Amino acid sequence: MDPVLLAVLWVLAVAMAVVAAYVIRRAAVAASPFDVALALFLLAMMGSMAGGFLLYEALPVQWGLQAALFLGMWVMVFGIGQLLAELRGGEKWEAGRRPSLAVRASVIAGALATELVMTFALELASGDLAGVARTAPLGSLLAAGITSSWFLFPMSLEMALSVYLARRETPRFLLVILSLQPVIMALSPTAVPDLQPWLTASVVGGGGAMTVVFVFVMESFRRSPRMNRAIFDYLVLLAFVFGLMMAGLLVWTLDGNPALFAVSLLAEMTLFFNAILMPDRLSQGEKVAYLERAWPMFGLILGVFVAEFFMGALFDVALSGTGFLTGMAYAPLTAGAGAPALPALFNGLLFVTGVLASPWFLIMMGAEMGALVAFKIRETRSRETRTRLSFVIGAYFVYAIFLPAFILSPQRLSSLPLIGWSMGIGTGGGFIPPFFVVIALTYAIAAVLSLLFGARQMCSGLCTAALMYQGTFYDSLKGFNRRSTVGNKLLGSKLSRLYGVVFSLSWASITAAAALSYLDYAGIVHVTAYGLDLAYFTEVLYFNFLWYVVFLTIPFVGVYACVSSGYCYWGTFNQVLGRLGFFRLKARDPAVCVSCETKPCTRACPVGLNDLPVNFIDKGEFKALKCIGVGDCVESCPYENILFWDVRHWLSGKASLERPRRTGQPLPMVGEDGGRALSAKTPGPE
Ligand code: SF4
Ligand code: SF4
Repeated sequence: MDPVLLAVLWVLAVAMAVVAAYVIRRAAVAASPFDVALALFLLAMMGSMAGGFLLYEALPVQWGLQAALFLGMWVMVFGIGQLLAELRGGEKWEAGRRPSLAVRASVIAGALATELVMTFALELASGDLAGVARTAPLGSLLAAGITSSWFLFPMSLEMALSVYLARRETPRFLLVILSLQPVIMALSPTAVPDLQPWLTASVVGGGGAMTVVFVFVMESFRRSPRMNRAIFDYLVLLAFVFGLMMAGLLVWTLDGNPALFAVSLLAEMTLFFNAILMPDRLSQGEKVAYLERAWPMFGLILGVFVAEFFMGALFDVALSGTGFLTGMAYAPLTAGAGAPALPALFNGLLFVTGVLASPWFLIMMGAEMGALVAFKIRETRSRETRTRLSFVIGAYFVYAIFLPAFILSPQRLSSLPLIGWSMGIGTGGGFIPPFFVVIALTYAIAAVLSLLFGARQMCSGLCTAALMYQGTFYDSLKGFNRRSTVGNKLLGSKLSRLYGVVFSLSWASITAAAALSYLDYAGIVHVTAYGLDLAYFTEVLYFNFLWYVVFLTIPFVGVYACVSSGYCYWGTFNQVLGRLGFFRLKARDPAVCVSCETKPCTRACPVGLNDLPVNFIDKGEFKALKCIGVGDCVESCPYENILFWDVRHWLSGKASLERPRRTGQPLPMVGEDGGRALSAKTPGPE
């Protein structure tokens, strides 16, 4: 098309967006019914002008022109009449009154309708609608319009301008989120669908901006645990809307249908403009301690997770192709008893676990959770914990993603102990003779590491769960270990009946799956999960599905429930060995614990181990199967009275015993500082 005409059309689109933003602002600060009527009238004027334009383009005949003019004039005359009537009335609202729901709904509907009519007019004029059959259903036409550049870019500008105009009365926290929404809207791949670099850049950029929103929201709870109810509701809704957007884009990428994405965009804009029309009201009212409310917090965690799930799937499809979806061993829907429901369920599970184990989902989760862990490093005193947290980030990316997903082929991976079998039996394949040596080596290496350093080598080191649970936000949910019914039953280092049941079921299931896997391999029985090896299927079910269920239900089961409940067979293997080995926590001076009044270490542990002081006072140390050495207790102790102790300290103690000591010099109590600094600086209770 003629570039001059194209430029004129874009100038027109931008001008409409600017005017619409100002009109919405007028409605937001309306001081009387007249102001609202004026805003609605202006929107109607713009809509009718664009409508007339559209009508004439669609029907380029004489009566089409007349109809277009009539449409524009009718709105103008009717609107002016109403305005004059309003001017005569002149009612004023009391100060501080904000637009009612009906007014907000009318303004939002008016703004969206105007923009949409304008979009179709510009699309027709630019020839972009030429490819869309005139006979296409209205829904398809609307979806095509809403997801086109003519709608998305001007609307993003309108949103950005609206945020700018409302900046003074919008709380800073909300302002950051509202400012990122237009960016996310503009980075829609559907806007320029034929340009591959744009597709890649917009998927990565849009997903990245959403991740920034989530990190910002989660980190804000650390700084201010109480939040205004309206803002919290906004965040939960926004998370689900983001999820819908990602799901819509996934569908569009897979089969070209933009309908779901269009619906999600309308939902996002409605949410956004509703906030813009009453930003100060969002920040008023009751503040709630959401870190103590199970259901609302579950809603937020779930909403964020749904968005991340579809974002991960979209990243995978957009950046690596559909191979990971099409390569799955789906069951035919006619297979076996219970068909088609059971095979459909199995296929659904395969899809979900496939996404949750895919490299791009893990990278995206890693970026988000890694940022929260990095925040935690900043506020951690203990050098040992800081080093461990840095190791957690590095291990996640290298050991859990980079090596298995980008460097090593599946065949090579299954021949490598520990890396290829990172969650024990089932990780790299069936429990079958070709893998017996590598499985045995995996367990032997893990056993030695746990004996020497405790289960923390796995559960707060190499395991991906360490990154998920130990960032600032998820760490701040550990109050649910005490508040939730299930979490409460799992508190303390004593193994409850519930722990016994879960532990037994977990080990019984993996043992049975391993036995059946072997028997199937040997040809003695033939049992698989629709062709998938049972040991492998069990591992996938446990760690790519159930683990996430446990993670999402933190408000009901507590943080680190994979450890506190005994649910993870790989974790409990390491924890038993850790219990038998060197690792323990030591009290520098048990007498300090006796006098300590608040005993904050009882509330610091993310696993819910609240009986440290009793053990310190009785035995001078704490050694528990469930202790995975996170070290939050060390951080929490105001007297710096807790020390990590493992094989390094045992060796160090041996070495110093062999060195001649001056009489009266205390035996070294080796911590990160060798126990030397504390005696000089710790005040100690009276
Ligand atoms: S219990 Fe299992 S899932 Fe949880 S941290 Fe330990 S190894 Fe990871
Ligand atoms: S906070 Fe420190 S001093 Fe107080 S009981 Fe716990 S370990 Fe002992």
